[in-house]
Amino acid sequence: MPLDRTSIAELDADTGLPAPDLPSLPDLLRDRLATCRTLPSLPAAAARVIGLARSPEPCLNDFAKIIEQDQALTMRLLALANSAFYARGTNRVTSCLDAVSRLGLDATLAAALSFGLPRTGSSDTLEYDYLWQRAIIAALSAQQLAQQLCPRETGQVFTTALIQDIGILALEAVDTNGYTERIPGVRHHEMLCETERRHYGCDHALVGAWLAVGWGVPHHLAAGIIESHGPLMDGNPRNLCLRLSCRIADSWLSPTPAQAFSNLLHQLAPLASLDIALVVSAMEDLQHRLPSMAELFEATCPPDLNSVALLAEAKELLFEQNLRLHHRLTEKQRELEALHASHVELDEQHRTDHLTRLANRPWLEKLLNHHFEGSRLSQQSLTVMFIDLDHFKRINDHYGHRFGDEVLIHFSAALDNMVRESDIAGRYGGEEFLVIMPHTRRDQAVILADRIRHYLNTQPLAQAEGEPLHVTASIGIASLEDAEFKDANAMVDAADKAMYGVKHDGRDGVAHYKE
Ligand code: GH3
Ligand code: MG
Ligand code: MG
Repeated sequence: MPLDRTSIAELDADTGLPAPDLPSLPDLLRDRLATCRTLPSLPAAAARVIGLARSPEPCLNDFAKIIEQDQALTMRLLALANSAFYARGTNRVTSCLDAVSRLGLDATLAAALSFGLPRTGSSDTLEYDYLWQRAIIAALSAQQLAQQLCPRETGQVFTTALIQDIGILALEAVDTNGYTERIPGVRHHEMLCETERRHYGCDHALVGAWLAVGWGVPHHLAAGIIESHGPLMDGNPRNLCLRLSCRIADSWLSPTPAQAFSNLLHQLAPLASLDIALVVSAMEDLQHRLPSMAELFEATCPPDLNSVALLAEAKELLFEQNLRLHHRLTEKQRELEALHASHVELDEQHRTDHLTRLANRPWLEKLLNHHFEGSRLSQQSLTVMFIDLDHFKRINDHYGHRFGDEVLIHFSAALDNMVRESDIAGRYGGEEFLVIMPHTRRDQAVILADRIRHYLNTQPLAQAEGEPLHVTASIGIASLEDAEFKDANAMVDAADKAMYGVKHDGRDGVAHYKE
């Protein structure tokens, strides 16, 4: 029975047929599928098997009767039922009824569906043989995985895995020359899907699902075709079986299977729920069953890989890869640390005055801006103190510039010791210093100013020609409470002005700003 050419369009238009819960096809593609005369069609016997499967209470005897009318299909079912997996050491079956009851409905359906599907296509560039090999490997490994992960769904998983890529045949039929030209080949499945989505608006999984719906297959199979193409991470064991089976098939048929399996093992590592032993047993099973299955489905037998040796090599490669990754990571970590260290160093150079190691003027201004805005918003107090050493020029003139430098260094260290942890002392310029005191009122700041003056009066900053050298300072203070300062600079100017008042009054003193 050829595919009912209107079925896809009609189904999508929701006419009578119980459409499954599938995403709809892009309009253009749906129209092209509906009018395509070369879509893969369902073999007559398979159509009858499906028709029966959809009837309310199908009995095995009815299946056997239908299938017996098709000799070739009967032979295939007998061969499948007598293959090692289904026979399991029991007697050979010789009647169609026995074969059907041994295989069960799903496997019977799978055999019927695949029977008569094209082995070659309209374009000679599509790798049909590869697709069939892939389908067989996927079906067998999905079946083996399902036996452990979701035993009740084994048959369904087998059938779905086998026909999961029929959408490729449909896409090639609607776009005979274009399809194979556009796609990167069928051996890179993820890339293939991506290219299809770009050109047709959906991938072959959705097309395949709708094609299957058009054939009238049970809807869970159609939905399963879509599921089979999702990402590995999935809580549903049936989906995991399907998705993993495609990846096993790709790896098995890869030109470098050990590398491909090593990549697969790497992808499986985060799947805590999956025991790798399951994959191993699925692969061992593949090795034994592939030849007879390939013969049964009239496909070239996929390469005979020694699963034990292959997995050992894959694990070795994975180990090496992890080791390399680890090395690269450590290297990157080291580079990062070095970069961070140099950044910190640079940053510090950026902020500090090279002679005194105190905060430099740009950094002082930045911090003061920050504290000015913050204190105003939170209505907290803030005070700045401007310190200018007295008659510093004379010291330079008398003892030399280098000596003057030493005095500045000593004063800076002493100042830094005297301020509190929350204060910021910096060099504003030449022999001028600024102390930013967050959360500090004027009277509290005066205490620090007095302490500085007391220190200078009692401690010499240097020894000059064997004599202790005392230096005095003029200190101006401005607090937020003193005036409505328009910005941080205005506050510094105010403290500077107060300091000049002290200079004017004879130096060595403290004053605060008055408007
Ligand atoms: P006043 O009491 O009025 O502040 O007098 P002063 O001499 O301290 O002020 P003035 O502004 O006239 O001179 C500042 C002196 O500080 C002159 C300058 O050479 C000296 N000075 C500025 N920066 C440095 C420095 O980095 N090292 C040394 N050794 N001296 C410096
Ligand atoms: Mg000065
Ligand atoms: Mg001075």
